[in-house]
Amino acid sequence: MNLVLLGPPGSGKGTQAECLVQKLGLAHLASGDLLRSAVAAGNELGQRAESYIKQGVLVPDEVVIGLILEALEGKGGFILDGFPRTLEQAQAVEQALAQCNQAIDRVVYISAAEDELVKRLSSRWTCKQCQAPHNMQGVPSDLRGKCSRCGEELYQRADDQPETIRKRLEVYLTQTVPLIDHYRRSSKLAEVNGVGEVAQITQAVLQAVGVGR
Ligand code: AMP
Repeated sequence: MNLVLLGPPGSGKGTQAECLVQKLGLAHLASGDLLRSAVAAGNELGQRAESYIKQGVLVPDEVVIGLILEALEGKGGFILDGFPRTLEQAQAVEQALAQCNQAIDRVVYISAAEDELVKRLSSRWTCKQCQAPHNMQGVPSDLRGKCSRCGEELYQRADDQPETIRKRLEVYLTQTVPLIDHYRRSSKLAEVNGVGEVAQITQAVLQAVGVGR
């Protein structure tokens, strides 16, 4: 099964992708994680992407499409998280998959209200090593500790600051929301409410992809 998780920044795509990996054994490809790793490595692609990420705008299609298609090579059964984010990206991945007799089987759109997204993003700390997100709402700075998954240090992403959060939400509305209709037209879309207990949302996502009770 090949899945896409679609939704605004902060809707919980990464968290749900990790839960689905555990349950379904699919490969998890997060475009944001791949881009940040390239920036940290200081390679050519990372250098091209860095200023876009900092500003909270989309990295040019040709850069991200190349990165994702390369990461997808040889993978059967995956979850795309944060990609596609434009119609051009959606068409590029559909074409590439068709060439190897594969397709996107289901697109799960995880929704949440804007004030909830801003609250989550501004209290999110991310692992420097494995990029796992941690919700630090109400946790004093001296008690923030280390990554619950790999034990490495946590940091607050520069694009999780209020100004950049607003920009990212605006970019989502103008450039990514049209994908909802694109996938609705092909009857691949299922919508899940992204507010609530993580485990309950995972159940709803599993049901949406046809493997839940
Ligand atoms: P994310 O970790 O998904 O919130 O992505 C962080 C940043 O990486 C975004 O604000 C964009 O600058 C960039 N990015 C991630 N995925 C994509 C994509 N599919 N297309 C363009 N830019 C992306």
